[in-house]
Amino acid sequence: MAYVDDMRVIKDENPFESMMSRFDHAARLLNLNPDLYQVLRVPNREFTVYIPVFMDSGKIEIFTGYRVQHNFARGPAKGGILYAPDLSLDEIRALAAWMTWKCAVVNIPFGGAKGGIVCNPTHLSPSELERLTRRYTAELIDVIGPERDVPAPDMNTNEQTMAWIMDTYSMHARHTVTAVVTGKPIDLSGSRGRREATGRGLLIVVNEAVKKFGLRPSETRVVIQGSGNVGGTAALLMHESGYRVIAISDIHGAILDQQGLDIPDVLEYLNTNKSLENYPKAQPISNHELLELECEVLIPAATENQITSQNAGRVKCRILAEGANGPTTANADEILERNGVFLIPDILANAGGVTCNYLEWVQNRMGYYWKESIVNERLEDVMVASFHDVVKYAETHHVNNRIASYMLAIDRVAYVTQIRGIYA
Ligand code: NAD
Repeated sequence: MAYVDDMRVIKDENPFESMMSRFDHAARLLNLNPDLYQVLRVPNREFTVYIPVFMDSGKIEIFTGYRVQHNFARGPAKGGILYAPDLSLDEIRALAAWMTWKCAVVNIPFGGAKGGIVCNPTHLSPSELERLTRRYTAELIDVIGPERDVPAPDMNTNEQTMAWIMDTYSMHARHTVTAVVTGKPIDLSGSRGRREATGRGLLIVVNEAVKKFGLRPSETRVVIQGSGNVGGTAALLMHESGYRVIAISDIHGAILDQQGLDIPDVLEYLNTNKSLENYPKAQPISNHELLELECEVLIPAATENQITSQNAGRVKCRILAEGANGPTTANADEILERNGVFLIPDILANAGGVTCNYLEWVQNRMGYYWKESIVNERLEDVMVASFHDVVKYAETHHVNNRIASYMLAIDRVAYVTQIRGIYA
């Protein structure tokens, strides 16, 4: 089978097509066996379920839910569950593959999966959401499990959603099964350090990149797009580590102080006002201007498609660490590479979350819980090793870090697939 077309034909707008184009590009460079290419390019299994829910009105409404399990070669499938009104099976399929590569790049023993329910969670009451989540779980009872597929929170789902899934699964199993999901509340067998793990993972890989370029944190200007779980946590941890965080944003706009923002004060303002607008101690700028600021480290941690062929030429950072999934398009990658930007790609840079999910799953299976410093230490071990694995791979194979991360991940999955053998 021929490889799919070259990445240059991919339009900027679709992050999933960008991901698949990078997969194809990496597979071609690896000279991946065509049989393995065919196996790895498609999901292992996909499920569509129709979920009847008693609404508060007393009427039944039917919702559509999906779970796609892309790959199990390295272990149980792993990936989030999202609730959104415009979900498609195609999108879930691509996100499931993304998880396979992300788990492989940080070398944790999981495959990839993703799931979701087509719904608008803001239109549902808490009890409707609970019934929806429980029935979705019941429909997938033979499909998920600690040894099979371990869901986690994602867009519009949270610790409470995971608690409902764990409880429903446990009711059917007739005993408490904590390891069926990760991202649970700490009191319900969740892991210490999980909430901060993605931001902490970013700090760890940026630390390694900064060391590589001989910079000191105090002379390193950091710009962060987004101030939610990922961006806000990364900003705080970087500020605490002595970095000069000069700009940060939310969906309404950005703020700038070349001397360095007082991040705890900014986050307190954000917490109180639910927006960075009118923050009195910094200069207001737009999200577009933020991305083009001169700095050493730029962290897009908001949403996809922020750095495109339109603005990539004006990005002036030395290091670009992708906190969000798919913030840079395939076309923008080429421009950044030409301009000498050192990229820490999303499947590596934001893998702190899934790595801590793995640590939660391990603790659940042992029934023994580590203090936060131990969790953070193990997270650091994984992120540091993965950073150097990717950089070394890039240098050895003369490719950029993006393609190196895909090549490394595909190589790892292909290798175990080959030694397990294809049961065809
Ligand atoms: P969040 O909802 O907590 O925060 C998102 C932030 O981005 C907010 O500050 C929001 O105001 C801002 N934002 C949203 N849309 C924007 C836009 N169009 N322009 C500018 N700013 C915008 O979300 P999060 O959990 O911090 O996740 C952010 C990104 O990181 C997403 O791409 C997510 O998929 C990815 N990610 C998250 C995790 C995790 O553990 N939370 C792990 C891996 C990847």
